[in-house]
Amino acid sequence: MDFTDTPEEATFRAEARAWLEANAELRDPNEAAPSIIAAREDPDEVQRAQEWQAKKFDANWACLTWPKEYGGRSARSIESVIWNQEEGKFRVPANIFGIGIGMAGPTLMVHGTDEQKAKWLPAMARGDEVWCQLFSEPDAGSDLAGLRMSAKRDGDDWVVNGQKIWTTGAHYCKWGILVTRSDPEVPKHAGLTYFVVDMESEGIEIRPIKQINGAMHFNEVFFSDVRIPDAFRISEVGNGWQVSITTLMNERASVGGGAGRGGFRDLINLARQTEIGGRSALEDASVRQQMADIYVKIKGLEYTGYRTLTALSRGQTPGPEASLAKLVGAPLGQQLASFAIDIQGAAGALSEEASPIQEGAWQEAYLSSPGLRIAGGTDEIMRNIIAERVLRLPPEMRVDKKIAFREVPTGPPSAGA
Ligand SMILES: Cc1cc2nc3c(=O)[nH]c(=O)nc-3n(C[C@H](O)[C@H](O)[C@H](O)COP(=O)(O)OP(=O)(O)OC[C@H]3O[C@@H](n4cnc5c(N)ncnc54)[C@H](O)[C@@H]3O)c2cc1C
Repeated sequence: MDFTDTPEEATFRAEARAWLEANAELRDPNEAAPSIIAAREDPDEVQRAQEWQAKKFDANWACLTWPKEYGGRSARSIESVIWNQEEGKFRVPANIFGIGIGMAGPTLMVHGTDEQKAKWLPAMARGDEVWCQLFSEPDAGSDLAGLRMSAKRDGDDWVVNGQKIWTTGAHYCKWGILVTRSDPEVPKHAGLTYFVVDMESEGIEIRPIKQINGAMHFNEVFFSDVRIPDAFRISEVGNGWQVSITTLMNERASVGGGAGRGGFRDLINLARQTEIGGRSALEDASVRQQMADIYVKIKGLEYTGYRTLTALSRGQTPGPEASLAKLVGAPLGQQLASFAIDIQGAAGALSEEASPIQEGAWQEAYLSSPGLRIAGGTDEIMRNIIAERVLRLPPEMRVDKKIAFREVPTGPPSAGA
């Protein structure tokens, strides 16, 4: 591992820092990071995020790793990491562009035509148009290739019917990436086709889902005879699985650990301010022991992360250690938040809005962190991937892989069957 910036990286960091200092306000390290959940609920925050993205784009600080021709800077991944480290120190809006810039954009660059790239990438990069991901369905999450939303060709259009679910941000997005079943007569992975859909199309109905944290940032999205031009199809008919894999690989790289708000520094401040048995919680032996346990895990993840950064800095592809981040980091975020709620005693039970402690950040983290163990691949799916692709253990039995999708049974067998 190598912890120091190379001279080139140090120059890049100084330039990034200088631009940020001229254009944003430094954040007090004790101040909670902006809540992406709140940002997704508030149209003013969405607009603020778009304005910040446009400002970065105009100064050539947006989409750093994207090629120059699409509005990026052709920067190395390590430079993007350095930018994120520096930007994170400033009071800037939450980044709501991950699905577009982090997932849809790279997918279009690989599989889109020149016209499609020219149509969508510039406005995506500048944040003028926000994107959502319409993959999951009520019966197809981990088993994404089992999805049922149907797409039938009709002249120059496709007619799409069915339901998607858990669509983050559908209510403020202009465009969506969509996977459909265009052919139920072939095995499930072979009958999928991938599209871009205009979220303002006739026949799309977006219904918010209220979450345990009180937010409503995901949605159910219903398609009734929605017409999508064939010009919006990405790659060949039936190649939707390969295109989806490109999107999912980019998604897993971008879904990190932790709940976003509430880090170890916040935890120390909390333990200092909270009393247990007439003295600061930080002086309590059992609190200190649990904090040490959490700290060791955080450091383990951080140093594992440095191995990835070192590989990126040397222009190498990170090894399997990168996939540990999600599997270890997401439960750790949950453990951290749960412990912080515990040491608040009865005050921990207050709602996020009512909590006077650290702007209710721990309540938000506590209720939001379980979702990160599901989004972008559940813990069990991550374990399956590590077992099969890293440890080379025998694969799971997949009995429906080779039969026509139409023959795959739906639901549990009927009684007496
Ligand atoms: C915060 C958040 C944001 C999201 N945003 C989006 C979005 O914008 N767009 C979108 O399309 N989707 C989105 N999703 C949906 C997400 O991709 C799915 O929830 C996820 O893939 C799991 O699918 P599922 O919910 O259908 O659970 P299921 O796949 O039904 O899984 C249920 C349980 O069974 C386990 N399981 C399933 N298969 C296996 C197996 N083979 N081996 C072992 N265990 C297994 C799972 O681990 C889980 O515990 C989001 C989810 C979350 C939590």
